[in-house]
Amino acid sequence: MSATSTAPVSEDQTGEPGRLLTRVPGRARPQNKALREFEKSVAELRERYKPMFWPLLIPEAKDMFRWRVQLECGCTHEVYTHGEDKYPDDRSYLDPVTESRLPAGEYWCPTDHGPTAKPYRDILEWVDRKVVDFPPDPEEPDYDWMDAEDWAKIRKLDPHTSAFWKVKLSCGHHDQVCSDVDWKPEDGPKLVSEERIAEIRREFEEIWTAEGRTGWPHESPERDHIRKMIELRWPRPEPGRDCYACTRARRITGYQRIGWLVPKTKPAPASSANLDRKKVEARLAAAEAEVRKLRTTR
Ligand SMILES: [Zn+2]
Ligand SMILES: [Zn+2]
Repeated sequence: MSATSTAPVSEDQTGEPGRLLTRVPGRARPQNKALREFEKSVAELRERYKPMFWPLLIPEAKDMFRWRVQLECGCTHEVYTHGEDKYPDDRSYLDPVTESRLPAGEYWCPTDHGPTAKPYRDILEWVDRKVVDFPPDPEEPDYDWMDAEDWAKIRKLDPHTSAFWKVKLSCGHHDQVCSDVDWKPEDGPKLVSEERIAEIRREFEEIWTAEGRTGWPHESPERDHIRKMIELRWPRPEPGRDCYACTRARRITGYQRIGWLVPKTKPAPASSANLDRKKVEARLAAAEAEVRKLRTTR
């Protein structure tokens, strides 16, 4: 997670600002350490973007306000907002895998919470696509687990091209889906024939019931998903996909202020200004008295 990604939320706000203010357990890092890390990510961003984009894309340390946030998994992390009036759930955070924004109020937890099954989510939106050219496939299988016979069936002998779509899922996360180059979302998915789907069904049932292969697919959600795809006559591209971000993004459940990333220099308090003025006035009065005394004694 880049410490410097502070894009404002463009979608649903999570409700009343500051509604999650609370005491977050643990302690903040030392200010100089936080500042050093921030400056390091700023330097990385400067490498990445041309100077003309810096004012737009790179935040300045002096504008950043530090917060400790707590997530639903129990982890606590430090985040920044643009000033003390902006709360950590007023902004959206980065999904570092797809480099898309997470829905408001979610944060990518960097802690490894162990393996979790990725839930399947429907695709709500085909956002945009990138076309990639590939050379002919190599003679040897591209995958260690695949035997030469299966590889021969799917191996592409000529250079080929695929489209990689950025999709938005029903959970609000983004992911990537591959399709044929000539496919468009308005075409809907391509289906296989009734005969072919009967064959696919038979093949999977054989694999699932075969002795020694009961462990595959490893996760039952995967098997449920394949059954669902068989019911739908094996649509390509699939109308959904398994969402990795759902296993990492966590809801922010509370936050606490730390302070400015660069401590503000305090203006002199009013009382001391008064004191200074009184001192000056006293000195002036003394000087005037001196002048008067000089005149009268002349
Ligand atoms: Zn966590
Ligand atoms: Zn998701």
